[in-house]
Amino acid sequence: MPPGTLPVTPRTPSPPPLDPSQYDPARSGYHPLRDACWGPGQSVPYLAVARTFERIEEASARLKIIETLSNFLRSVLALSPGELLPCLRLCLNRPGAASEGLELGIGESLLTRALAGSWRRSAARRRTRGTWGWWPRAAAAPSAPWWRPPASAPRASWASCGRWPPCRATPRPARRSASSRGSSSPAGTRRRATSSGRSAGSCASGWPSSRCSPPWHTPSRSPPPGQGWPPAVLDAGQGMAPEARRAWLEEQSRILKQTFCELPDYAAIVPVLLEHGLEQLPQHCGITPGVPLKPMLAQPARGVGELLKRFEEAAFTCEYKYDGERAQIHVLENGAVFIYSRNQENTTAKYPDLVDRIPKVLKPGVRSCILDAEAVAWDRTTRQIQPFQVLMTRKRKDVDAAAIKVQVCLYAFDLLYLNGEPLVRQPLAARRKLLRQSFEEVEGEFVFATAADTRSAEEVSDFLDKAIKASCEGLMVKTLEVDATYEIAKRSHKWLKLKKDYLDGLGDTLDLVVIGAYLGKGKRAGIYGGFLLACYDEESEEYQSICKIGTGFTEESLEKHYGFLKEHVLAQPRPYYRWDSGAAPDRWLAAVQVWEVKCGDLSISPVYRAAVGLVDEEKGISLRFPRFLRVREDKKPEEATSSTQVAELYKKQQQIQNQQQAEKGEDEEFY
Ligand code: ATP
Repeated sequence: MPPGTLPVTPRTPSPPPLDPSQYDPARSGYHPLRDACWGPGQSVPYLAVARTFERIEEASARLKIIETLSNFLRSVLALSPGELLPCLRLCLNRPGAASEGLELGIGESLLTRALAGSWRRSAARRRTRGTWGWWPRAAAAPSAPWWRPPASAPRASWASCGRWPPCRATPRPARRSASSRGSSSPAGTRRRATSSGRSAGSCASGWPSSRCSPPWHTPSRSPPPGQGWPPAVLDAGQGMAPEARRAWLEEQSRILKQTFCELPDYAAIVPVLLEHGLEQLPQHCGITPGVPLKPMLAQPARGVGELLKRFEEAAFTCEYKYDGERAQIHVLENGAVFIYSRNQENTTAKYPDLVDRIPKVLKPGVRSCILDAEAVAWDRTTRQIQPFQVLMTRKRKDVDAAAIKVQVCLYAFDLLYLNGEPLVRQPLAARRKLLRQSFEEVEGEFVFATAADTRSAEEVSDFLDKAIKASCEGLMVKTLEVDATYEIAKRSHKWLKLKKDYLDGLGDTLDLVVIGAYLGKGKRAGIYGGFLLACYDEESEEYQSICKIGTGFTEESLEKHYGFLKEHVLAQPRPYYRWDSGAAPDRWLAAVQVWEVKCGDLSISPVYRAAVGLVDEEKGISLRFPRFLRVREDKKPEEATSSTQVAELYKKQQQIQNQQQAEKGEDEEFY
């Protein structure tokens, strides 16, 4: 295939497009031209997007979901490639890249009124019909008793939402809501929602709302990058033998995944894909200052013995594990500085002091770079690190540098990019050398993470004690030379975290999602007195119940949680919640917040569903004596502790208990 051409089905004279109401991207033997409901060069009807989501909602098998989405995307590529990006944005339920921080600003009540406006029916009446979870299917089913087509349902098309600039893919009304963030009046937002709602014609489910999160779409239900595309793009693989085709598709997926890891922005990838084809992506797309990367994370280690065993002969370094907020700092060729959180959220406005400071600590010759660091609250008088909670009292947006009360010191620990060159494939020893050569330390402002390169168990233990005395959480232990590349977006064994708590046998904390609440009694009457927590199962994309929690809260914090969570009450649990009636809460809540929780230990439970099938076929795992520590504002629900991690924690705990029992047995024998 010559470079620059897209491997899509050649354009043969196509039959007239299907009636959009008949569009079915899930049909077997789908043909991207014959089965599409629009013609070559025409805009993708919004109804086709909505129908695709409906088919996805109906499917439970992951492969079927991928195939359905692939079929739709094949048609987009074959007929309207210029609209691929808007379609991907819709599939991801996001109006822009994560770092753009755009939100549609449309909530459930606003959407209700907007839809009522566009269909000329009362919001109250619709509400009585059920939740949004039930809405899409019913809305699309003409047989629903209350369903009546709008008086003049226009043929839905994105084009009818207005033209949008290249690389800015969401229909204009949606983006306008997205970028106006708080400043626009709800009525204005509603008007725009109404106008787009109308253009969705008879399929109301197509409206992308980032807040109401209908069941056909949590952000994580959209296929991860690289899974929905290849069959779409690689139509040419159809003639291959199944084995060869599978291998070929895997390779294409790998290329796309790798590209998306390094450049997680479809607005940048799609034009290259369309112009040069998928194989050429690595030549044109790579790590780019200004586009945040998903960070590398660490695996927990239970003790010094475990980490020495894991790293065997490989050289490693121990660094202090600072308790602050991850800061990925990008310096662009034009001198601009951007700061991104662990979630790729743009936090530049939170740290105007760091933005001023960075150019001053750059050594001559550094034109552009991406730095991995931890921003930690710092007391200038005592010249000491302050707890994480102090950092959290800093304003999040529009911080005025002159009015800053909580000072921050930046602890730099990695360099991912320097002067046009990505460094992620170099070993840590080389990256660290470049880091130290490229920046100047300034006490209390910019410092390299304190590190000790040692192989002695005693020295590691001593260093851990020093880290704790210096108000750090523990150590990060990292391979230096062998197997020491930077793994974007991975929780890797090349980095191990060793916390004091693990050594005390208290275990790590878990980050869990609140999915339900129990009504309070006595002193807690009128608010929630307890909560149902869940971990996230990446395989099934479900939230699995893990424990009920009622301790660790002050009365004030309970009031606050109530105020926030009552806005997220659901009429019924989401279909992707896994729970047992033995622990059903009084109120179901949308999965919107992650809490850090400490527990006594983990036990097998017939009532909770966490990690079911991983340790026991039928039973799940639950936490004993869970205690609330804090809200993890920096984690999304899908970034909560996974069920695999829960199973690993349980197994490790068992190993330790067995070991302790064996030692006790030996002692008893001795006496
Ligand atoms: P935790 O609750 O422990 O922060 P986590 O899931 O957020 O867990 P981990 O993989 O456990 O992340 O630990 C990595 C985090 O530790 C990083 O995201 C970073 O914010 C912080 N950190 C502090 N010091 C270092 C260091 N020297 N090297 C790497 N990360 C560090």
